Amino acid sequence: MRVIFLGPPGSGKGTQAKRLQGVHHIPQISTGDLLRQAVRDDSALGREVKEFMDAGRLVADHLVIELLLERIQQPDCERGFILDGFPRTVTQAKALEQALADRNMPIDAVISFSIELTELVERLVGRRVCPRSHGEWHVRFNPPRVPGRCDVCGEPLIQREDDQEDRIRTRMKAYSRDTEPLIGFYSQRGLLTRIDALGAMEDIAAQIEQRFSVAP
Ligand code: AMP
Repeated sequence: MRVIFLGPPGSGKGTQAKRLQGVHHIPQISTGDLLRQAVRDDSALGREVKEFMDAGRLVADHLVIELLLERIQQPDCERGFILDGFPRTVTQAKALEQALADRNMPIDAVISFSIELTELVERLVGRRVCPRSHGEWHVRFNPPRVPGRCDVCGEPLIQREDDQEDRIRTRMKAYSRDTEPLIGFYSQRGLLTRIDALGAMEDIAAQIEQRFSVAP
């Protein structure tokens, strides 16, 4: 099963992608996570992209495409994968389509998380992440047991640099301009399923499972 989760930052697609990974035993691949790891490692790629990421701007297509295509060639992707945060532009979508066609491994489904952009600011401003376990919490909607500490490892939680309000607005603009056109792109290919992302986590998970239970 090869699936794309498409949606604006804060729409909950990362949480659902991680959940699906646990249920179907295929890796969830987040280009945001891969890029943040490159920044932490202080690699050449990390140094090149840090400024863009901190500002909430998209990283150059060729860099992300190379990173993603290399990742999906790993053995753990043979049975499939869930892409979270990629593609984000039509150029990326076309590069992915071409690479997968070359290997006769087409995308099976694209799940589009629909939500009003105004809803998202509150979700993102309150998001806190653990730099060690990579778990995510929310100060209001999903608080950790001990305020400010990771439930998994006890590490102090941090706010992502790009979760500050001005950066969030920049990311939303990038989403509307560069990523939203992908809804039409995948709809034309008959791959798109829209789900309402403004509900309880379990209800959204059920909508996603329903899509897979009727999948070819
Ligand atoms: P995310 O964790 O998916 O919100 O991604 C965080 C940041 O990483 C984004 O704001 C971009 O700067 C960068 N990024 C992640 N995925 C992509 C992508 N597919 N194309 C371009 N930039 C990306």
